[in-house]
Order: sequence, then structure tokens, then C-alpha cells
Amino acid sequence: MRRAAAAAAVVAAGAVLYLADPASTPMYPPCLIRTYTGWRCPGCGATRAMHALLHGRVREAWEWNAIWTAGAPELAAWGVWRLIQDARRARI
Ligand SMILES: [Zn+2]
Repeated sequence: MRRAAAAAAVVAAGAVLYLADPASTPMYPPCLIRTYTGWRCPGCGATRAMHALLHGRVREAWEWNAIWTAGAPELAAWGVWRLIQDARRARI
């Protein structure tokens, strides 16, 4: 049940990320790493990469954060696999 709630939260966050571009929408908080160091932040890059991935722009996502872009499909597949495992256990 907790995993189902977590999955619902991930889907809701994905919907927000799909609809609101982090590069141009002021609803996201300013990045503290970028603000105080001037460095490009891998967390913000991952957020922008995810937005690009959700819109099918793999090359742009790769440029924002290659590690996240390479790992996101595996992470999503693992999450779905865990949900399926939980559903099977609940039936037994
Ligand atoms: Zn950041």
C-alpha cells in the first residue's frame, strides 16, 4: 500500500514536471548550489533532463544530465517491477 502511494506521488510529480518546464517556469525554487557557487547543479540538470525525456527529447535530456538520462528508464522499470511483485504477493 505504501508503494502504491509512492507510485501515485511519482506519477503526480511526473505530471507536474511534464506540464511545467523547469528551465522557464518560476514555480520551481531557485537552486542553492547555482546561487552560491555558480556551478551547474546535477540535481537541476536531472530535473530538466526528466522534463525533456517526458517530451521525448532524448538528446536534450542527455545534454542536461547524461547519468540521469541513462539511469531513468532502469529506475522506472525497477519501480514497475516492484509494484507488480507487491500486487502478486497481495493476491497470495
Ligand atoms: Zn540545483
